[in-house]
Amino acid sequence: MADLKMIDQLDASGKRVVMRVDFNVPVKDGVVTDDTRIKAALPTIKHLLEQGARLVLMSHRGRPSGEGFEEEFSLRPAALRLSELLGSPVVFATDVVGPDAQAKAASLKDGQVLLIENLRFDKREKKNDPAFCEELAKLGEVYVNDAFGTAHRAHASTAGLANLLPAYAGYLMANEVSTLTGMLDQPKRPFVAILGGSKVSDKIQVIDALMDKADTLIIGGGMCFTFLLAQGKKVGTSLKEEDWVERAGEMIKRAAEKDVKLLLPVDVVVADKFAEDANTKTVTVDEIPDDMMGLDIGPESQKLFHDKIVDSKTVVWNGPMGVFEVPEFAAGTKAVAQGLVDATAAGAFTIVGGGDSASAVRNLGFPEDGFSHISTGGGASLEFLEGKELPGLKVLE
Ligand code: AMP
Repeated sequence: MADLKMIDQLDASGKRVVMRVDFNVPVKDGVVTDDTRIKAALPTIKHLLEQGARLVLMSHRGRPSGEGFEEEFSLRPAALRLSELLGSPVVFATDVVGPDAQAKAASLKDGQVLLIENLRFDKREKKNDPAFCEELAKLGEVYVNDAFGTAHRAHASTAGLANLLPAYAGYLMANEVSTLTGMLDQPKRPFVAILGGSKVSDKIQVIDALMDKADTLIIGGGMCFTFLLAQGKKVGTSLKEEDWVERAGEMIKRAAEKDVKLLLPVDVVVADKFAEDANTKTVTVDEIPDDMMGLDIGPESQKLFHDKIVDSKTVVWNGPMGVFEVPEFAAGTKAVAQGLVDATAAGAFTIVGGGDSASAVRNLGFPEDGFSHISTGGGASLEFLEGKELPGLKVLE
């Protein structure tokens, strides 16, 4: 990845800066319930405001239909939270590129902030529509992107706009990129990658890419059952992707050829149904009953994975080990998170991929400083690890 053009190269004083942030935050009853993403953008926001920029912030939130305003996806709660965090007012525009946004952007004074309404209220955002890019460009003179979480999308606010205004990367963006690049290019060894989550089909490319980098690959979560099938085991009613069994078998073979250790669970917690009041038991992977499904890795696997992680110098983790949202099936994910915390304490460099793994460590009560880096991008960090070129980064080079 070439170098990004950084905001340090920009004198923003008196300039109207249109900045893409990732304020895709959860909201309940009009209040932001997790402000991690807003806080993550603060260093860049504060830097620009201290320089005297007139800041126009833009973000998406959730998945609105694209047919106009929808209360449940409004960014107004994010404006309120940002204003509390900054200790100063944040102007809010009730439209995206309409008259309210244009008028409020035009009347901003040095050091003032405006947040426009959810970009995805306009369906042209996701289409990277040229006319929509032009309208966004009218909101300012310079463009900054600090939304690593959407860097893998070629949308108007992440890609097209960068061709119309001088474009710079914010600190969050740069930090994510340099951290992930450093890990991939010069990992201290042993290097272990842990992959979980529901589907092999979603993670196959990252497994492929990490096979060339890591010394050990640990596979858990719903996708381990497709690998167990490839080893000829029976997996009962567990999540499985029959079409991917052959590919999983090839992965197992490739790992052996490359001398990469591929660790799969040795035991699993099975349940008779997907529910909190299900009957559960722990079995080895050779005795999964025909009528039960594996919903977490078992205690032996937890120990095996934890010990391997603690023995490593570089650790990257993406995807839960089980259905961690249900306390009965969260122990495997907790054990892996604890492994990263213990490895960090022992001097290893540990990265939690964004998305579900990041929310898992937070929801399970692990301290943020227990890890070297918790990525703010789920899909983006995954594509980065796959070695793909991210459109939102390419335009900032
Ligand atoms: P992903 O979005 O692919 O990272 O997958 C995350 C989801 O995988 C979480 O919602 C977990 O509940 C789910 N998951 C993890 N392990 C299992 C499993 N053994 N069976 C079904 N779903 C699982």
